Amino acid sequence: MLKIIKHPNDFLRRKTREVKVDELKSPKVQRLVFDMAKTMEVEKGVGLAAPQVGSDLRICVIRIDNESFVLINPKIKLSSRKKDIFEEGCLSFPRKFFPVERPIKVKVQARDLEGKKFKIKADGLLARVLQHEIDHLEGILVIDRAIKDE
Ligand SMILES: [Zn+2]
Repeated sequence: MLKIIKHPNDFLRRKTREVKVDELKSPKVQRLVFDMAKTMEVEKGVGLAAPQVGSDLRICVIRIDNESFVLINPKIKLSSRKKDIFEEGCLSFPRKFFPVERPIKVKVQARDLEGKKFKIKADGLLARVLQHEIDHLEGILVIDRAIKDE
């Protein structure tokens, strides 16, 4: 189990760096991904990004409805113009929810744990979680995107 870094903490603001393909096969990275997936499960999160566990690597894991994803070096390739608003939680902001407006559909490109490239076309909750986790990899947090009352 990894310790989840809670806001406020400078680590959550750091930009991550891309994982090199040979680095991917290292026990260190394999272990990190395994531990991130386990931690997300135990904490009952739907997603977890490496900066939340103190790593500067461009990695996140997602688990929705028993479907799991490991995303190495993920990038959003396309976002729909259509957006919607939904209350988002985050393991770095325990028991808090923030209304966030985001595109309803995205296309994401990433590598899997073997280093193979793949693409995900997502909508609904998966599209939202992908955007939330990829934001973490840029040092962007849910509070930055939250709609303010006014
Ligand atoms: Zn989060």
